[in-house]
Amino acid sequence: MARIHSLSPQLANQIAAGEVVERPASVVKEVVENSLDAGATRIDIEVEGGGVKRIRVRDNGQGIESDDLPLALARHATSKIVSLDDLEAVSSLGFRGEALASIASVSRLALSTNASSDASAGVLAESEGRDQVVAVRPTPHPQGTTVDVRDLFFNTPARRKFLRTEKTEFNHLEEVVKRLALARFDVAFSLSHNGRVVLNLPVADSTAAQQRRVATICGPAFIDQVVHIDSERSGLGLSGWVGLPTFSRSQADLQYFFVNGRVIRDKLVAHAIKQAYRDVLYHGRHPAFVLYLTINPALVDVNVHPTKHEVRFRDSREVHNFLFSTLHRALADVRPADQLVSSE
Ligand code: ADP
Ligand code: MG
Repeated sequence: MARIHSLSPQLANQIAAGEVVERPASVVKEVVENSLDAGATRIDIEVEGGGVKRIRVRDNGQGIESDDLPLALARHATSKIVSLDDLEAVSSLGFRGEALASIASVSRLALSTNASSDASAGVLAESEGRDQVVAVRPTPHPQGTTVDVRDLFFNTPARRKFLRTEKTEFNHLEEVVKRLALARFDVAFSLSHNGRVVLNLPVADSTAAQQRRVATICGPAFIDQVVHIDSERSGLGLSGWVGLPTFSRSQADLQYFFVNGRVIRDKLVAHAIKQAYRDVLYHGRHPAFVLYLTINPALVDVNVHPTKHEVRFRDSREVHNFLFSTLHRALADVRPADQLVSSE
């Protein structure tokens, strides 16, 4: 038997990266969530080679103080929570302080940032497959942050082997951007791949503009066949759009559910929605929806998994009832008895 020893920080990060950074899409999720947490109103994402070759995210958020920059890339370093109490009511998307360290450990990362309005006061940190920052040096940069991730998994061949084709990786990445864009109408997003603009979404500050964004992301046919939801009951809120039964799908591919602005997958939520559609959808068809649940953050635990795609509700029965009854009522009101036509 070998003797016990502590893992090097780099190896510990690479192991932890396995949980957070599965593929280029996960990098985009983490980096863009950081931009949103930093209060950005415009986020531009440039991708090359499906994101494996390069992902560059530029935001106009508050930036990072130059003294804090080395810490930003260190593991378990965050500006978002201080105590367990903060975690109970966390409203930021991040709080674990491990995404940048994880990404840095499996890529060539450059982070330029400026926390002031003096564009000459920017700083740049680079790291190459390590958690340690190699160098911090001045660089011109407007207020905000640019994260440039190149050669993902260049030093972890075993992980690299699991990557799919450039097209598949980009599809996953684009899906992540769409979810984030549906979560934040108040932020402008752009996405380009190999120099070609794929998404260009201006700030959507009116209902009409929001519906335009939904149409861009979900297809124009969806928004023509939806019921608008806006309901509140004892501290729970549900808003968004659900597809009419005339807009059913053969796959569950147009289903977006957000809890306090965070996209989630949840069996209980899926079940409640399915039940609400039971009488109006043919068996084997899937509803399309973009729904936003708001709930007191203290009544939902988001720290279930490092990617935070899962949540735990304190009172899951109440959430289920609320979703089911709200959607059931909305669909009953419009129920077009004999128009169960396919949308594909
Ligand atoms: P977390 O988001 O969980 O705090 P991260 O590793 O993703 O952990 O980021 C570490 C820290 O770096 C954040 O807490 C934040 O202070 C800072 N940071 C990262 N990205 C940005 C950004 N785009 N703008 C401003 N600060 C950022
Ligand atoms: Mg983060």
